[in-house]
Amino acid sequence: MHFTDTVYRNPYWPTFPLLQITQGCTHNSCKFCTMYRDVPFRLQPTEWIEEDLRELAMLSPDAKTIQLLSANPLCMTYDKLAPILEMINRYLPKMEYIYAAMRVTDIKNKTVSELKGLRELGLREISLGVESGDDRTLERINKGYRAADITEQCRKLEAAGIDYWMTFLNGAGGKELSHDHAVNSAKVFSSLNPMVVGTGGLTLFEGTPLLTQARRGEFEPLSEAEMLAELKTFVENLTCDCYFITHHTSGAQLTGPDFLERKPRIIASLEYEIKHGDMERLAYVRSRKTSL
Ligand code: SF4
Repeated sequence: MHFTDTVYRNPYWPTFPLLQITQGCTHNSCKFCTMYRDVPFRLQPTEWIEEDLRELAMLSPDAKTIQLLSANPLCMTYDKLAPILEMINRYLPKMEYIYAAMRVTDIKNKTVSELKGLRELGLREISLGVESGDDRTLERINKGYRAADITEQCRKLEAAGIDYWMTFLNGAGGKELSHDHAVNSAKVFSSLNPMVVGTGGLTLFEGTPLLTQARRGEFEPLSEAEMLAELKTFVENLTCDCYFITHHTSGAQLTGPDFLERKPRIIASLEYEIKHGDMERLAYVRSRKTSL
């Protein structure tokens, strides 16, 4: 298999098979991200994709699901993407469910009818690292789109019948924008119908522009208690039913389906954690993280 980058796979998806169709990230300039910093974006050569599919067809001829790599493999236009999905179906004829991460901006170059075409070829589920629905926060972390783009593009996915995940990056607005980041993100997410809402806490990694800004005093990161308080505000304001996932170091018990039914329990458990949690342990766990 031709895996050229570090493989980041969705931990909620089957571990196998994975197929790389691009290298790196087209944007590669979110201020908190180290994932593909040293990897120039490139389309994976078609012959490599075909060789990998031949190998997968031998290893797993009955595969029904597949995750595409790398950061945003669906950045391509329909005309380039459709032949790749057709090739997947040719080598793995039982394929039903193709999954990949995508940037909000990657949806822009596709019409609803093209998205429907991709769905017919098996593209069923997409993960969007949205991070925030607050314009000032999006600008601060340099996501490269605005809140209005998120709603406009996600509605196209809904019209095409493609399920999607949205992520909220807890702490991304720092102290200054924390409240607006939580409330405006919940507002944007709630105006849509994501299948999954995931939340992860901001960690400032060595080599990122956001860490440099924090050292210069231009970005004030949240404490662990403030992160939990911001997450609670986000949850309080979130009104779309979904599978809710949190990677907050304290929050494994908060993950699960039927968000609206569980919302009061999630809030109560966040309140308990804010009052009684071991913040030093949480900060220690975060300090041990080496990558997103
Ligand atoms: S967070 Fe995602 S979109 Fe942003 S630079 Fe990293 S991989 Fe690219």
